[in-house]
Amino acid sequence: MTKWVYSFGNGKAEGQADMRNLLGGKGANLAEMSNIGLPVPPGFTVTTEVCTFYYQNEKQYPGDLNDQMDAALATVEGIVGAKFGDPANPLLVSVRSGARVSMPGMMDTVLNLGLNDETAAGLAAKSGDPRFAYDSYRRFIQMYSNVVLDVDHHLFEEQLEIKKEETGAVLDTELSAQDLQDLIVEYKRLVRDELDHDFPQDPREQLWGAVGAVFSSWMTHRAVVYRKLNKIPEEWGTAVNVQAMVFGNMGDDCATGVAFTRDPSTGENLFYGEYLVNAQGEDVVAGIRTPQHLTIAGKDAQGSKLPAMEEVMPEVFKQLDDVRLTLEKHYHDMQDIEFTVQQGTLYMLQTRNGKRTTQAAIKIACDMVDEGLINEEEAVTRIEPQALDQILHPRLDPDAERKVIGKGLPASPGAASGIVTFTADEAEARALNGDRVMLVRIETSPEDIHGMHAAQGILTTRGGMTSHAAVVARGMGRPCVSGAGDLNVDYKGKTFSVAGITVKEGDWITIDGGSGQIMLGEVPTVQPELSGDFARIMDWADKARRLKVRANAETPDDARTARNFGAEGIGLCRTEHMFFEGDRITAVREMILAEDEAGRRAALEKILPMQRADFVELFNIMKGLPVTVRLLDPPLHEFLPREPNEFEAIAKDLGVSVEKLRYRAAQLHEMNPMLGHRGCRLLNTYPEICEMQARAIFEAAILVREESGDAPHCEVMVPLVGIQKELELMRAVIDRVADEVAAEKGIKPDYTVGTMIELPRAALRAGTIAEEAAFFSFGTNDLTQTTFGLSRDDAAGFLGSYEKRGILKNDPFATLDKEGVGELIEIAAERGRKTRPGIKLGICGEHGGDPSSIDFCEEVGLDYVSCSPFRVPIARLAAAQAAIRRKG
Ligand code: PEP
Ligand code: MG
Repeated sequence: MTKWVYSFGNGKAEGQADMRNLLGGKGANLAEMSNIGLPVPPGFTVTTEVCTFYYQNEKQYPGDLNDQMDAALATVEGIVGAKFGDPANPLLVSVRSGARVSMPGMMDTVLNLGLNDETAAGLAAKSGDPRFAYDSYRRFIQMYSNVVLDVDHHLFEEQLEIKKEETGAVLDTELSAQDLQDLIVEYKRLVRDELDHDFPQDPREQLWGAVGAVFSSWMTHRAVVYRKLNKIPEEWGTAVNVQAMVFGNMGDDCATGVAFTRDPSTGENLFYGEYLVNAQGEDVVAGIRTPQHLTIAGKDAQGSKLPAMEEVMPEVFKQLDDVRLTLEKHYHDMQDIEFTVQQGTLYMLQTRNGKRTTQAAIKIACDMVDEGLINEEEAVTRIEPQALDQILHPRLDPDAERKVIGKGLPASPGAASGIVTFTADEAEARALNGDRVMLVRIETSPEDIHGMHAAQGILTTRGGMTSHAAVVARGMGRPCVSGAGDLNVDYKGKTFSVAGITVKEGDWITIDGGSGQIMLGEVPTVQPELSGDFARIMDWADKARRLKVRANAETPDDARTARNFGAEGIGLCRTEHMFFEGDRITAVREMILAEDEAGRRAALEKILPMQRADFVELFNIMKGLPVTVRLLDPPLHEFLPREPNEFEAIAKDLGVSVEKLRYRAAQLHEMNPMLGHRGCRLLNTYPEICEMQARAIFEAAILVREESGDAPHCEVMVPLVGIQKELELMRAVIDRVADEVAAEKGIKPDYTVGTMIELPRAALRAGTIAEEAAFFSFGTNDLTQTTFGLSRDDAAGFLGSYEKRGILKNDPFATLDKEGVGELIEIAAERGRKTRPGIKLGICGEHGGDPSSIDFCEEVGLDYVSCSPFRVPIARLAAAQAAIRRKG
């Protein structure tokens, strides 16, 4: 018999923390908290396997689920001493979704389930507080109708507002028990009008309705989009947590709150959270009442006048602070918790590893090493490599002028500028158009995820540090300023105003998510400091990794950035980029137009000193580290003008007729240049180009060695080889030039010759190609293109629909296709090593900076990855994690 339901509560549980696949994150942690003796209201978790079953069986449940749920419910009834549906002594429950990882866009919560006309009266009598009972009932109808029955919650809000107007109440809490009972009648009528049936009175029907709604929410558009953005597999499914209600809204000795065990923005070891007296969970995040700080320090830091929990309920606060320490000692990580205080008693409703900024993640990991909670390798695994992006990117230039127009909460750090947009759709549309946009909203909801993703930054006028905007932006690494209450947003007029200034849609603004400042215009930024805790983490990562990390760089600036970020050499210097620089393009064009070899050589003579100077600079920056220089790769027509109006000016520069230039351009035109006369094919037809480049490399190497004493190690790389002979002939040219230079200068350059593996044939024939190659560098951009037969320049147009339809899980140009392209890499590595044991193997396609592709490189045992300079730290960390994973 399959166990579909796991109980928890009363100091024990059937589940535990490591069962998150089956119980979801929330369920596993509720079980774990019960197990370690924390005060958790009893309940049970319906497993993710039920969700899978549900979708595999036309939305039917397993036959024995009902009995298992009944039994679990009976256990809860026993612990609480109340009965589900009993009018005299009703048990009420909450129903929440809970996937393996927390997922906005999923059904959130239904509270007070089990209330109906009878049990509400029973609750009123039993609690002696009819106001509380009817307030709970009306909240339940509103929430359940919205979440489960799909009735728009605005309709209920309208009724509530009407009732407040009628009675002269300003706050919800000013409505009397009778007002609320009247409101409930209105609510029920509203449901009947909308749905043609009554609000369900049977608690069991309510429960099954809520369970079904949780499972259905797994497939909502929002959830699907979120999963796709975060690469969460659909097969995981969600669990459902049913838990006895505790009430934070039974009076002034009650409260509810959310907290982080450390500051999620800075990582400081300070208890950080918000609470509300006499409130239910959703009130804290809904932005209707302003949440208060937990601690006096937190309150003072924000200059808040509202009393802290530490002052209002010192004893319960002390308990909560102890729970904080217990959880951190137990989980060895920063926790994000939810709690409720019912008449002076503390209950824990949730714990999970808290989302944090990268800056905070780094500080917390380092502090926890110092506190003895985790070791250095564990610290390395705590940082999401991709998330380093957040801190590797620029911050506001401290010296730049800022026209600050407002301030909100520093919800997610980093500076961003963009043009103002007011809806997620508009943000997305403009971003697709190439604009940098800022999403400005009163508050955000899971429906806005796509716009938040498209935006450079997010600005909201409502909601605290734990609001949707703040949490999601931190997770996405977008700068965010939230709760900027002075801003007046007019969605209709597409403007916001603050301090007498009106900002329109399309105007530029800048936000600083580290300080909360909002500025007019685009404020310049500066590069971040990469010392302190960041350097410690990177140090530990370097100790743990096996793969070397190099950078793809050709300009001195890129090379310097790469070194700064810890690159251990250059894995790809695309020399064609040097051909476009300054005046040399003219000489390159002369070469292309030359009638014969002598003409080409004359032009190449002009290019030689420029190329040599480029390499001198690069070798100097790289100080003896290996530099892989790739010989000319693209087809020649790329260097000729494209636009008709360019021909005249260029012909004049070159001293040739426009006709001649046009004729040559037409001659070089190819239907399919990616598969055309490029790479080693070009070098083999014009070996003098290879000769010039080899000479430039070797002469530069010798110059640098003479001047600085650092002997550069050059790896001369021949692109687009598919046939052994192609490489053999080029290698002969390179070796000959090396000998000539050695004879002329009296020093032999230190070099090797190798090839890129960019064609399936090259991968398959790697065994023979390795006879000529000291190294292989997998050019996975072209290898992906040629393996799939998919143009790397045109595929983006339809890859999106392929991903949507599930034909491809990822864009194969961003994440290595391990099955296809990966198999070719494995074959090439194996055959290459067989011919030449110890052949150096690396990767230099875009995938070299992608963490999951790097993991594959570790698996295959490549020697290094090479990626763009800004991704070097990401690659160092990902390489370390890949190595640690394999140890574990
Ligand atoms: C590749 O093909 O993966 C590669 C690195 O070369 P390029 O992107 O220059 O074609
Ligand atoms: Mg290539």
